[in-house]
Amino acid sequence: MISNTSVQYIKGVGPAKKKLFNKLGIEHIEDLLYFFPRRYEDRRTITPISKVQSGEWQTITGRVLNLGARRSYYTKKHVTEVTFDDGTGRIRCVWFNQPYLNKYFKTGKRFILYGKIDTYKNYLQMISPEYEELQADDQEHLHSNRIVPIYPLTRGMGQRYIRKVTKTCLDKYIDEVHDHLPVPIRNKYHLYNIRRSLLFIHYPESFDDQSEALRRISFEEFFFYQISILLRRQFIVQKKGMAHQLKDAQVLGFIHSFPFILTAAQIKVIREIRQDMREPKPMLRLLQGDVGSGKTIVAVFGCFNSYMNGHQSCIMAPTEILARQHYHNLTQMIGCGGPLTGMRVALLVSSIKRKERDAVYKQIESGDIHVVIGTHAVINEEIEFNDLSFAVIDEQHKFGVRQRAMLGEKGTNPDILIMTATPIPRTLCITLYGDLDVSIIDQLPAGRGQIHTQLYSDGQNQEVYQLVKEQLQQGRQAYFVYPLVEESERLDLKAAEDMYQHFKSKVFQSYRVGLVHGQMKSQDTQSVMRDYKEGKIDMLVATTVLEVGIDVPNATVMVIEHAERFGLAQLHQLRGRIGRGIHDGYCLLIGDPNNAEGTKRLQAIVSTTNGFEIARQDLLIRGPGCFFGRHQHGLSELRVANPATQLDVLETARKEAKQLIEDDPTLSQQDHQDINHVIHQRYPTFLANIQAG
Ligand code: ADP
Ligand code: MG
Repeated sequence: MISNTSVQYIKGVGPAKKKLFNKLGIEHIEDLLYFFPRRYEDRRTITPISKVQSGEWQTITGRVLNLGARRSYYTKKHVTEVTFDDGTGRIRCVWFNQPYLNKYFKTGKRFILYGKIDTYKNYLQMISPEYEELQADDQEHLHSNRIVPIYPLTRGMGQRYIRKVTKTCLDKYIDEVHDHLPVPIRNKYHLYNIRRSLLFIHYPESFDDQSEALRRISFEEFFFYQISILLRRQFIVQKKGMAHQLKDAQVLGFIHSFPFILTAAQIKVIREIRQDMREPKPMLRLLQGDVGSGKTIVAVFGCFNSYMNGHQSCIMAPTEILARQHYHNLTQMIGCGGPLTGMRVALLVSSIKRKERDAVYKQIESGDIHVVIGTHAVINEEIEFNDLSFAVIDEQHKFGVRQRAMLGEKGTNPDILIMTATPIPRTLCITLYGDLDVSIIDQLPAGRGQIHTQLYSDGQNQEVYQLVKEQLQQGRQAYFVYPLVEESERLDLKAAEDMYQHFKSKVFQSYRVGLVHGQMKSQDTQSVMRDYKEGKIDMLVATTVLEVGIDVPNATVMVIEHAERFGLAQLHQLRGRIGRGIHDGYCLLIGDPNNAEGTKRLQAIVSTTNGFEIARQDLLIRGPGCFFGRHQHGLSELRVANPATQLDVLETARKEAKQLIEDDPTLSQQDHQDINHVIHQRYPTFLANIQAG
């Protein structure tokens, strides 16, 4: 079977190459068939040598007129020089360090070549062009005279090689590929069959072929993905959950217990959650709200509702810093003497000592603790909740679907609220969270300062330092953010540690400078963060551990070094750390993007502070896989399908998936067996809980 036959069975793939394939994620024949080109080059037009243009990438043909070999005087490289003649003109082609080519190019033989034309001392020449011998006229070409696939490769593997291998593989195994899309659906949307699609996505005869092949394969990916998501939702909401009762007066009491007025958006979402929690089936809701929009209060409302009904709740955050912050905030709210009075909260993070932890476990089990706040420590197997009825997952994109399911199992089908500060474009939201109801806080609390974002290049450090000093002089605080602290990256990154020393002793010597980075001990990070929050530190040099949730309203300026190395969503998150108070914030990006994508990204972040707009652009620029990191959510199952650019395909696939589940909720009909099988194969973790239940 192609799904378990090793690629080593393909001609030309030995043990060494097999390792390289494995590196590319290719183990079996099937993986290779589904290993798609990154782009294509149109090499269909053959240009007579007399008409070639210097500076252009062109395809030519010609006979070998003469050839020679020499050593380069300076670099000592072996040089093969071949002159080709096509009757209209001559061109010299040069290859380095491939002495075997001197035997390959024989005088009088015809070749087709593709490369960049240039001129050297009045001679036309091509450096290292792609080449292929021309034999009969009807010969099938792989590397030229066609639309040529360009694959994403790894070191040690060339385009010529992979083309040969994919071609051999298609020729030999295409007939073993089975089509899993139901025929009526295929007919309804005029979709190619899978064999034709695979052939054309590798070796299209026209760009129309290629796009039809892509449409078909994307459709299939979306279709199965949506089925898995819908099945999961169906499975969860049919269960019996807890019905929470809350009087209007109690809700109002909660809303009015804060020193500020809740935004209309916060109140709307609180209503939605109250409504969901009232139902005797489990809530499955996604809460989206930009950084600083006040999601915490909404989450706390759920905890309050659970508490008033005599149950337990929990909040799971992606980092210890965030868990501590939630814990701190909630403790303060409880201390105000408002409706939360009497609520007992526990913090569970991995740095807590064994003894203390065991004690907390006991209290959770007995029901003494009402709200548990922590990192993934809260889904530890040893924890038994007495009666968990409401669970919050903060920053879901840091967790996977598995953790979500594990949290759900801590209670009898608790209501689940998933929160994200990374706004998700609608298209991606359907794709990733098609199983969730969605609430959006689309409004920031009034009275916040504006954020100004400016872009600087590397040479403009002094200007940036000056702006930072101005803010510090006014009593504000600053962040300096660096991409990483890692030995291997040290050569080309100014590591945070070095700059910290530099700032402390030179540039900002009259201020108090602190440092946090990902490799510090948790306690040390905590204490630096605490000092910063309490104003004992003016300026914090940090790596991206800052990314989510840190709340220091007095911080008004953030400098992001090497801004081009961050993703858009990440930059937006970082920027959300400032302008949380009444003062205006300044986000100063230092970066020199050396490609179009990087430039686009930085322009996007400068031009808007709207998180949804930024997310949409990120999706367009980089595609869905990059959005959260590749291996989340089964997104890696979407190899070519892109919700950003294929919304119509996504929507039709979703429609058909829905219909299918409606007609046959358990996929037990005879002609759905194949689909059932595919789903279990492709999305095993998604469905693990279904099988267990
Ligand atoms: P996020 O949505 O990023 O999690 P938080 O819940 O951390 O935002 O809220 C950010 C800050 O705004 C907190 O200090 C919080 O107390 C405050 N806040 C929340 N809601 C309001 C409001 N309606 N008016 C004023 N400040 C608010
Ligand atoms: Mg938050």
